[in-house]
Amino acid sequence: MSDSAEHKEAAPAEKKADDWLPDSVTKAGAPGKKNNKKGNPKDKAKAKKKAKAAAAAAAVAAEEEAKANAPKGPDTPVSSLFPDGHFPVGQRLEYEQPLNLWRRESEEQRQREKVQEDQYESLREAAEAHRIVRQWAKSWIKPGMKMIDIADTIETSLRKTIDAEGIKRSIAFPTGLSLNNCAAHYTPNAGDTRVLQETDVLKVDIGLQVNGWIIDSAFTMAFDPIYDPLLQTVREATNAGVKAAGIDVRLCEVGEAIEEVMTSGELTIGKHTHPIVPIRNLMGHSLGLYTIHAGKSVPCIKGSGDQTKMEEGDLFAIETFGSTGHGLVHDDVEVSHFMKAPNLPSTGIRGGPKAKELYNFINKNYSTLGFARRWLDQAGISRYAIALKNLTDCGAVNPYPPMVDADGSFTAQFEHTLALKPSGKEVFSRGEDY
Ligand code: MN
Ligand code: MN
Repeated sequence: MSDSAEHKEAAPAEKKADDWLPDSVTKAGAPGKKNNKKGNPKDKAKAKKKAKAAAAAAAVAAEEEAKANAPKGPDTPVSSLFPDGHFPVGQRLEYEQPLNLWRRESEEQRQREKVQEDQYESLREAAEAHRIVRQWAKSWIKPGMKMIDIADTIETSLRKTIDAEGIKRSIAFPTGLSLNNCAAHYTPNAGDTRVLQETDVLKVDIGLQVNGWIIDSAFTMAFDPIYDPLLQTVREATNAGVKAAGIDVRLCEVGEAIEEVMTSGELTIGKHTHPIVPIRNLMGHSLGLYTIHAGKSVPCIKGSGDQTKMEEGDLFAIETFGSTGHGLVHDDVEVSHFMKAPNLPSTGIRGGPKAKELYNFINKNYSTLGFARRWLDQAGISRYAIALKNLTDCGAVNPYPPMVDADGSFTAQFEHTLALKPSGKEVFSRGEDY
């Protein structure tokens, strides 16, 4: 997930009540249509019923077939691959800033890092599961697949490799599968029939956590090589941000390093060459225990003016977004990502027993991590749309709508999670792929 300037100001109340209801609910719930028949009502009703049953059976068969054909992914818990509890160490990067050079050789600093080893091992375990699942996912994600099957297949494997157990170890937020001008926070809801296209630019944003320590890392896939310059530019921009990060470095300086690389790229589609611009209202962020946005935001642009310093021990998700559009995203309508607010609203929970029951479920199963409507469906919770709307209306749960740039534009994202350790940086999510 990413930090956005907009979602903080977004008022969920603006949205129409219908926006919250899945298609299935709005259609089935439309009253008065059923008794509106002419002619031989009995015969027609019978035929209709028959056709409906046949369609339902076909849908079930198709679903079964899709499930049977779904790629069988990595299913060995990473914890059992490394039974001694020592997981592959992330990429080590030296601090480059003159003010940090002394840290490289400091034995004292290295000793201090040992205090944090448990935290780092949790992050390394989550990062290893992330690498295993994403490398496999890249081998089978292809145009023609339904987005919802892609999401479910990835998440099934994530739960196995992380050895999911309550909030002790789990997926940290819904698997982002944002397409084209949508930069972030799209994952399919139930009933989503969208199919991946040959011309699509797909951002895969995966979060995993162990003991509350979160790996938030994303990459972009495209099936037409014309998009390669966009992907390459954004990957390099993210790496520039990773390189610039350091203890006592100001957040605005990281943004400057990112923008410089981002704006050096361009993308030619047909006769048109588009400059690549950073998306200025999507940002990287510090990470905390069970906390995806821990307070500091890392801009993708220079001139943000944010003088806040990165500090020793900070964890950051460094993520950059490049776009052929305006470089500014706004909320889209159908929301799939939600997260409990850190504190109960002062008014308490509104909406009656159903809302309270849903809140308790969210609290127990996801705590302050993100969750998808799909996950509520999978847990067997039904007719939760009103209760969920009540929770977002009263501020107990925050919605994270999809963030989209101009129609027809293309956006790409790369993201890594790193720690600013006393003697150097560790980029946990680094792999051979990105
Ligand atoms: Mn992310
Ligand atoms: Mn993020």
